Amino acid sequence: MTKLGVNRDNQKKINRGLTLKLIATQQCSSRIELSRVTGLTKMAISQIVGELIAKGYVVEVEKESTAELGRRPVGLEISPRAPRYAGVQVQRGYCEAVLCDMQMKVLKSERIVREWTDSEELMEAVYTLMDHMLEGEEQVAAIGAASIGPVSVKEGRIIHPLYFNGVGDIPIKSLLEKRYEMPVYFDHDNQSAALVEQLYGNGRGYQDILLVSVGRGVGCGILVDGQRMHSYSGYAPEIGHISIDHNGIPCVCGNVGCLERYVNSTVMHRRFTEALGQDLEYHRFYTMTDRPEIDKILRDQIHNLTQGIVNALNILNSQIVLLGMDCAYWPEEYVQLLETEINEKKFGNREVRIPVKKTRFLYQSQVLGAACNAVSQVFSGELLGIS
Ligand SMILES: [Zn+2]
Repeated sequence: MTKLGVNRDNQKKINRGLTLKLIATQQCSSRIELSRVTGLTKMAISQIVGELIAKGYVVEVEKESTAELGRRPVGLEISPRAPRYAGVQVQRGYCEAVLCDMQMKVLKSERIVREWTDSEELMEAVYTLMDHMLEGEEQVAAIGAASIGPVSVKEGRIIHPLYFNGVGDIPIKSLLEKRYEMPVYFDHDNQSAALVEQLYGNGRGYQDILLVSVGRGVGCGILVDGQRMHSYSGYAPEIGHISIDHNGIPCVCGNVGCLERYVNSTVMHRRFTEALGQDLEYHRFYTMTDRPEIDKILRDQIHNLTQGIVNALNILNSQIVLLGMDCAYWPEEYVQLLETEINEKKFGNREVRIPVKKTRFLYQSQVLGAACNAVSQVFSGELLGIS
């Protein structure tokens, strides 16, 4: 049973995690700032910072002196000796891994490109990548993993993603824990991307975020009141199967008119190719928006995406929409077009214009999000090794 009470030890843990988060995400760089932002006393902050320094998470640095101050103020930074975190992302057509520090600086990265034919082949690739990330590294504290959905976050399991050659039912969390004997934290790929964008990217300063990723599927990440939206069952949200036409195209999920049947990258690529009579690499079409045929198809994609996004926004009232994966190719004017259409059609909170932006980390949002699944545990006060 979930314990609802907060005892003093828990409170201490939460305050330590919060302090470290504010330093790692560069929102605070001194004890005074930490005290102001957290509302904790200077004495309490000094004690927490002392513990974080003693454990090797934080170091003191000299800040630039100002004319009025006689001595240089002391700043705080994440120590170069602080623990590192590995992340691995499972996708259609590839797996990718990173090793990064607590500030999301990438220290190593590698990708294996392949169409997966069975679960063993996929896990072999995950192990190869993770072996490379951990090779020669003594400071790795935890692994984060992320996968295309559907996933069960509670069970740490990839279920049966669509267009995935039947690969699925993989208990990825327990497999990684067993092999590497360290904590593993798992979530849906776009939920992970939403988290990293909120902590370090274009979602900073927002508590309610809707991230929409367009690739071979269409997925979403949702943060509500600063927390990732998880159902009690452990299933992550799936925007791709919101219907935008109840008389529409049948979908493999059993529904009709599903958003992703109209706007995913495979459909878009086919439409571009047919319109121009040339089969080019997908991203090249996005450099040809001066061609009326391409512009028309893109406007149609935006129109369809608006329907799906407005359906979600009318329930969620998100403060910002972030666009991930293949939306990275979009020229900025189409991002603006989507923003305008969404704001014309959304019902809730009409007086507030919702910004639409690309993700800061573009194609790396999901894999950095995977690593962030581990780092964010530290920010909640776990894994710190301080009693
Ligand atoms: Zn569907």
